[in-house]
Amino acid sequence: MTDLDTRRAELADNLTAVRSRIDAATRAAGRSDTVALTVVTKFFPAADVAALAALGVADVGENRHQEAESKHAECLAAGVTGLRWHFIGGLQSNKASAVAHWADVVESVDRPKLVSALDRGAAEREAPLDVLLQVSLDPPGREQRAGVDADDLAALAERVAAADHLRLRGLMAVAPLGEEPEPAFERLARIRARFVADHPAADVLSAGMSGDLEAAITHGATHVRVGTAVLGSRPGVQ
Ligand SMILES: *Cc1c(COP(=O)(O)O)cnc(C)c1O
Repeated sequence: MTDLDTRRAELADNLTAVRSRIDAATRAAGRSDTVALTVVTKFFPAADVAALAALGVADVGENRHQEAESKHAECLAAGVTGLRWHFIGGLQSNKASAVAHWADVVESVDRPKLVSALDRGAAEREAPLDVLLQVSLDPPGREQRAGVDADDLAALAERVAAADHLRLRGLMAVAPLGEEPEPAFERLARIRARFVADHPAADVLSAGMSGDLEAAITHGATHVRVGTAVLGSRPGVQ
């Protein structure tokens, strides 16, 4: 076997394991819908993205603009098409319009300033840009929080809904560090119930990662974002 074959076999095994975790959690939650998998490919090369696409992965997630932009271009050049690219990272408003050029979904919109920048970038696209609002599940006062407070969610949602080139699709969240994911995802489910009452078409809930996807699915996640459990430990981080 070549290195490529070995890597591909490893990714295939990991994908099978993750998909069965997702299926088991979906059944255990008594749900009859399906939960979508976004494979988080940050820090891994375009060759891995190509291998994942060949294994039937339809959605990939990236958290840094420059890295994602070049990986996206490499994949296109290699003839890897049909993937949906999700931006899941912290977004600076001066990069937002550039992200709209390669991303199909931006999951991390958490403040008004990003909305106008993304809308400007999305104006150059053929199709509207799908947007999720990132909700903060952190206790108030915690430093380096990403996400909009539940109290400010409705106003932010109105802005996205009013933007010409954006399509409000739902919510995203990350469980806080150093806390059990269960109560955080339970809070998220309550926030989401209020949100979809106002925006019934925005029914995506992106929550759950390698370590907590079961808890997220229990509390209504429609999409999980899994990196490590599919690709292994990220090179050069942690
Ligand atoms: C990196 C990342 C993930 C994937 O995390 P794993 O623990 O590797 O599965 C999911 N969501 C966001 C926002 C991330 O930055």
